[in-house]
Order: sequence, then C-alpha cells, then structure tokens
Amino acid sequence: MEKELSPHARAAAIEIAKCTSCGLCKDVCPVFNLSRREAESPRGKINLLHALMEEALDPSETSVDIFNRCLLCYACQDACPAGVMTERIWISAREILADEVGRPFSKSFFLQRVLPGSFSLGLALAIGRRLPGSEHSVNLKGRMLPRPASNRLDRLLPEILEPEGRVAGTVAFFPGCMINEVFPYLGVQAAQILVSLGYRVVTPSARVCCGAPAFNNGDMGTGRKLAEQNLEVFTALDVDTVLSPDATCGGAFTHEYEMLFPAGSQWRSTYQIFRDKVVNFGEFLERIIVEQGVLAFKPLPYYLTVHDSCHLKYLQHKANIPRRLLDFIPGLKVVESPQSGLCCGFGGSYSVYFPNESKAISRRKLDYLRQSQSNMVVVGSPGCLWKLRSEAAQSGLNLRVVHYLELLWESLVGQDKSVASVSSV
Ligand code: SF4
Ligand code: SF4
Repeated sequence: MEKELSPHARAAAIEIAKCTSCGLCKDVCPVFNLSRREAESPRGKINLLHALMEEALDPSETSVDIFNRCLLCYACQDACPAGVMTERIWISAREILADEVGRPFSKSFFLQRVLPGSFSLGLALAIGRRLPGSEHSVNLKGRMLPRPASNRLDRLLPEILEPEGRVAGTVAFFPGCMINEVFPYLGVQAAQILVSLGYRVVTPSARVCCGAPAFNNGDMGTGRKLAEQNLEVFTALDVDTVLSPDATCGGAFTHEYEMLFPAGSQWRSTYQIFRDKVVNFGEFLERIIVEQGVLAFKPLPYYLTVHDSCHLKYLQHKANIPRRLLDFIPGLKVVESPQSGLCCGFGGSYSVYFPNESKAISRRKLDYLRQSQSNMVVVGSPGCLWKLRSEAAQSGLNLRVVHYLELLWESLVGQDKSVASVSSV
C-alpha cells in the first residue's frame, strides 16, 4: 500500500513534478560550485527526494547529510525557469528524513529545549559569552558560533519607545535573535531612527524566535509552536505594521510561515492578519524618510560595495533596498562587486555543521569583494554581517563590514555606538 504523504511532503511533490532536470540551478549553487558533486546540486537533491518519496531508495544518514549540505540561500529557486519553489522542497526533505532517520540528540535538545525558552536560551548565551574564541566568534568544540553581546537588546530597548512630539504612527518591531543577542546596537539604531521619524516603536517582550532555526532543520513542530506564539503576540497589538531588519526573519514571516499555516489550517486566518501587517524593514524606512523629510544625512566619504543577503535577494526579492537607502547619504561612492549575489557562506546551521565548506564559500566571496577594491561592504542581514566580519578578520583582510543601518546611523549621528541604550519611557 502506498504511504500517505504529509501536507509538506505533498507540497514538495508538487514542486518536484515541475522540475525538467535542465540543470540551470547548478551554476548558481554555492555548494555545488564548491564540491562539483551532482548529488549536492539542487537538481541532484530533487532527484534524491523523488527517489525517497517513490521508495526507490531507503532513507539513510547519507541522504540526511546531502540535504543538510544546503545553505537554504534559494539562489536555485531564483534561477529556475520552471518556477520550482525549492523553499518547499528542502525544508520538507529535512522533515521527512528527521521523521525517518531521526535527528542528533544535541540538535533536538537545542531546538526543542533551549531555543523556545527565554530562560534556557539566556542560560545558553551566558555560557556562550564565557567560551574562548575571537572578538567575533566563540569556539564550541571546534565549531565557530557568533559571540553573544554582553547586553541583549531586551535590556537596552524598552517595550515601547515613544517619539517626541506628534506621533506619525505605531510599528511593531521584531529584531530577530541575531540582533537581540549578537548585534543589539543595530536594534537600538533601527528603533531610534524610526522614533526620530515620528514612529512609536513597540518591541513586545513576549515575542520568541521566528522559528527559522527549527523549521529549517525539519522540526516543523517546534517551528510552528514558536510561530504561533509570535502570531498571538503580534496580532494582539494595535498596529498596522510589523518590521524586522533581519532578512531571514522577514523572509520566514512571508514565506516559510505560508508552509506552516496553509489554507484550511487552524491558524490560517490569524496568520493572514499577521501577514498583512508584515512590511520589509528597509522599504518602510525608505518610504517614511521620503515622506517625513526631517532627517539630515551628513556626507560620508566611503568607497564601498554591497553584498546581497540571500534572503533579501532570493526570498524577498528586495536586493535594491539597501542600495536605495544608501542613496540618501551624500558622498558615498558605491561600486558594484562581481557576484554581489553570491552567498556569504553562513546558512545558519550550515556554518556550524560544515565549517570548512562554509569558510571556503566565504573566502570565495571575500575574493570577489577584494576585486571590487573597496574597503567597505554593506550587508542587509545580521547573519551575513557576522560571517563576513569574522572571516575578513581571520584572513587579515582590510574590509569594514557593516549593516546598512550602521551607515544610516553614522551619517545621522556619528560613529559612536555607545548610544546603544535607550531610557525607558
Ligand atoms: S533549474 Fe529548475 S527545472 Fe532546471 S533542474 Fe533546477 S530545479 Fe529543475
Ligand atoms: S538553496 Fe542555495 S545551497 Fe541550497 S541547493 Fe539551492 S542554491 Fe544550493
């Protein structure tokens, strides 16, 4: 008797059926470009999942390994002429294999016990701060992870930040775990810029991780639980706009949450209410900077290039937003880098489980950035910020890596990041 497919597996099967095996996705895949192994290419993985679903192959550790060798950058989805939505395939494959083969205890423990709880996550981060490593990274048994900041954003930013004078509107702010724990100054800068444009900024303390680390590893149950909590928290707020400066969280809200809450599911209508409020952070910022016309950007004398963060470019299709925001700053000279859309090598857990490959992809990216002859690169997501910053430092490359928010801030306020705390209202 044929096995009944789960809803995610059914969604993956629809996408697999669209694939014509043309192979055009291979050239854009950073993993295939490194290994040159067909099995690790997007086409190879599609064929593998097809064989697993047809029960022509038995699930094994080898197939788990192959599907884990993916940065979830979605360059393949962008390049596919047949419109194959690989975002529906890779995650489903990881779910199917986790159900069949299991998941390492340490991964399950982190996803199910540490990530969802603010106490357990706080404890893990407190331990993380004490680990050896470098300025940017901690070394956990040979695996490099972002070094947690000494102060989380939650300690620096009040739940409600009020503007002075007339209130132009209220926005809900979702900084994401990387900004909350690793780059809190970016969250403060984002909130302060919104406030200076007349917006009240609400950063609810009951929010949780967007769930991407869980569902991207095939743990749909934990991912859905986290997503549901966020839906409850954000739909209860009296706001029309939800913003996240992390391209991965923003992409999760508009793409992966679609998979978690498909038509007919219990949470679908709540998700639709939430989805209607989610706006790309940079796009919103660009619009209100123009509308309000109150910010005075001072010139900055930098010669820089832009790195297109994958989840901004391939998932959200908003690669031009950082460039358009940089246009507000007089004096900048922006030079385009060849391969600006090549992944930085981060890929969340990819950089943890495949450190050598992740480093090799990063170094290739740094080579292209070096060719641009700029000494600054602007990114649109905190994951890329950490990866490129830490790899540039390790390789001794004279390259300043900044999020676009940092340059807006520097042009408005100056280089001082010590303004990284906001008094409670
Ligand atoms: S580009 Fe699209 S259709 Fe062609 S092999 Fe890749 S996924 Fe299949
Ligand atoms: S998502 Fe990125 S790494 Fe994964 S198969 Fe597609 S192009 Fe390759």
